[in-house]
Amino acid sequence: MAGAGAGGISEAVLDAIGRRLLDLLQRDFPLDARPFAAIGERLGLPEDEVLARVRRLKSADKGRLIRQIGAIFDTTALGYKSTLVAMQVSEDKVDRAAAAINRHPGVSHNYQRDHAWNLWFTLAVPPDEDLEASVRALVDEAGGYSYRLLPALRVFKIGVHLDMEGGDDISPVDSTQGARPTPAAVPSARDRAFIRELQEDIEIVSQPFAGVAERLGVSQEEVLAWLHEAKAAGWLRRFAAVLSQRQAGYVANGMAVWRVPEDRIEKAAAVAASLPQVSHCYQRPTYPDWPYNLFTLIHAKSNDDCRTIAGRIAQATGLSNYAILFSTKEYKKERLKYFVSAQEIMTSRSHSLYADAQRYMPGGVNSPVRAFSAVGGEPLFIAKGEGPYIYDADGRCYIDYVLSWGPLILGHAHPQVVSALKEAAERGISYGAPTALETELAKRVVETVPSIEMVRFVNSGTEATMSALRLARAYTERSKIIKFEGCYHGHADFLLVRAGSGVTTLGLPDSAGVPEGIAQDTLVAPYNDLQAVDRLFRENRAQIAAVIVEPVAGNMGVIPPEPGFLEGLRELTRTEGALLVFDEVITGFRVAYGGAQALYGVTPDLTCLGKVVGGGLPVGAYGGRREIMEMVAPLGPVYQAGTLAGNPLTMTAGIETLKVLAEPGAYERLEERSARLVDGLRAAAEAARAPVFQTRVGSMFCTFFSGERVVDYASAKRSDTSRYARFFRSMLANGIYLAPSQFEAGFLSLAHSEQDIDRTVRAAEAAFAGLGG
Ligand code: PLP
Repeated sequence: MAGAGAGGISEAVLDAIGRRLLDLLQRDFPLDARPFAAIGERLGLPEDEVLARVRRLKSADKGRLIRQIGAIFDTTALGYKSTLVAMQVSEDKVDRAAAAINRHPGVSHNYQRDHAWNLWFTLAVPPDEDLEASVRALVDEAGGYSYRLLPALRVFKIGVHLDMEGGDDISPVDSTQGARPTPAAVPSARDRAFIRELQEDIEIVSQPFAGVAERLGVSQEEVLAWLHEAKAAGWLRRFAAVLSQRQAGYVANGMAVWRVPEDRIEKAAAVAASLPQVSHCYQRPTYPDWPYNLFTLIHAKSNDDCRTIAGRIAQATGLSNYAILFSTKEYKKERLKYFVSAQEIMTSRSHSLYADAQRYMPGGVNSPVRAFSAVGGEPLFIAKGEGPYIYDADGRCYIDYVLSWGPLILGHAHPQVVSALKEAAERGISYGAPTALETELAKRVVETVPSIEMVRFVNSGTEATMSALRLARAYTERSKIIKFEGCYHGHADFLLVRAGSGVTTLGLPDSAGVPEGIAQDTLVAPYNDLQAVDRLFRENRAQIAAVIVEPVAGNMGVIPPEPGFLEGLRELTRTEGALLVFDEVITGFRVAYGGAQALYGVTPDLTCLGKVVGGGLPVGAYGGRREIMEMVAPLGPVYQAGTLAGNPLTMTAGIETLKVLAEPGAYERLEERSARLVDGLRAAAEAARAPVFQTRVGSMFCTFFSGERVVDYASAKRSDTSRYARFFRSMLANGIYLAPSQFEAGFLSLAHSEQDIDRTVRAAEAAFAGLGG
């Protein structure tokens, strides 16, 4: 008897009837309109109780003993080509390699094993795809340095049936001797539609095939008849429950591999296959560095039990040359999905999360550009970030060039930042009273940013620009401000005037809900156009409080200032008695440690910061000359406040981030890597004769899909956004996460390696080539 509570399942769930139920579900699921009633008849239970028990066995809080109930199709019979792949990858990269491999929808199993060949996965591709080329591409993407294709040459046993009644044994329900015949029939379009529906888990309801029938637009009888035909055609291997071997207590998975002389293979296989603990038995090819040709998969409750079983096989066959590779990590174990487009599968979990999100939040997002509306498709939902990578809810890994829209200059979850945050959180999350941390970060800002003698922390870039301009108006006692077309300074009403960023992306010149009166004091000039600014000053003598500018525009793509532009603004504002405000929310600590003002040697009166200075937590800051900043409350009459401003977590993340950035060589490294990336992108575009205009300042960059120089909003808007969208989608499919809009900046972090960059360039080569001239 499998011990009471096998794999943590309580006796109440797995009583004698429960065990018989599991047995029936695995062996003999009735292809009947009311299958659970039919099972009930055999067990002497009412249908309701069968349903309740099956639901319990499938539910997560009972450990999900039943993994799935549904049709199990035969990969080969459906025309798919498949292989087992053994791969070698350096130990410290296994997790990442596995994530890259798992992105492929044709990968159904992926395990780490305790052997020099340390990653083992199965790949199946549709009839019209090249299996070997797919493996090569996957291994390349995963950073494997060696791989061997190990397709099944002969199948001796396949399928697992965990015997819940007869002790610790596993017995086969589906075993075959030798190669199985390949059915001649090819599934028609109608068959494919049935397969697509029936490969999903059935619903645990009285009539589980009714929903399938409805979705297919046929009767239940037709669905059941089709299942019988599919079985006869060899497409359907069985319709059954698959149990979680782990939950059933079979936690050990040992792949025993044997070196068997050709003439003894069949006999040895027969011995191994006769053992109930051996679930799969195959003959596979050998290589000079892989001498084993017989594979037996052993499931048992411990590694030692696996060894004992292998020993039994050795004894019975007289084979002594063998090895057991134990699985040390299960990265993937899923049923293959047939005749579904890769895209559909690859976005599945994100898709359902997005559907949910849309029910509760406008557009399903908390900031519009995240919704992918500019590039088509649906946003990915992100499960974790690590260094330069993000992982989506479906477990796929991407090299990230969005980096939370700029803040993560050290990459995701930098260990120094994370550990300082943990310690800080232990000491309390917010006090609403001063801390030494605020002074420490303020001191670093003041020492670093040339224009800042005093600083005030707020919670977002929006607050920073809004407050800085309030201060500028108070200081100059004037009301008008000049901003530039395509520059974005957050979403304060008076600044949403022909702004860039999400507003550009959505094609809205202004936002609804902003009264005309509020916007009338905001004057707009084209970026890089000093003459226009001069004209505005002349037309509005002594009325202009400030000129606000992104010293490198980063919200209409990336547009560097033309030589003399920033200097000209400095000159003009000084002579006209207005303040010059640099919005360095993006560029601060990004293009240089001291920001764009240090890079270009132009010192504004006020500076707005955000993003990097908070290390990835919500932040904003504004600062400038002491005499101006002393006008802010409580010292002066300009009111501005914030419940959570300067909170200890943000300050901590900011301090740690700036510490790392202050280390010698940090910006040199960013510069070098960014140049490598952008040079690579430029060369890739040239090779494909794709007209692009590539810009970069430090570690912010943009590929404009335009054949002309981009210097302002008008020229940026002439970019071919539909080509960008296609480029974006191709890059995404290859594991590169770019900003989902032509009019956003790309960012690089200190965590991006040369290999990451080279992989990105290779993906870009393919993406540009795919666009056509
Ligand atoms: N200023 C610039 C230059 C920005 O790029 C942004 C946001 O991207 C902001 C201000 C607004 O910052 P936040 O989104 O933190 O409010």
